[in-house]
Amino acid sequence: MAKKDSSFQAKVAKTAAGADAFAKKCPKCGDPIHPVQLVVSERTAKGSWKYNERYVGACKCTSKEIYG
Ligand SMILES: [Zn+2]
Repeated sequence: MAKKDSSFQAKVAKTAAGADAFAKKCPKCGDPIHPVQLVVSERTAKGSWKYNERYVGACKCTSKEIYG
């Protein structure tokens, strides 16, 4: 008597869906977009500097802007 295990298939489907959501691809260059943390320095009205941290999606198109 062969017993079919359907839980394995369900696991694979779930993992594939999760990976697809994580690996976004750029419509311009087709490269996978990965988040990169940027620290941007901004001068306030009082003349002091403050630093803003933000995440940007990096791919071939934006790597020049990000890394200079
Ligand atoms: Zn791109």
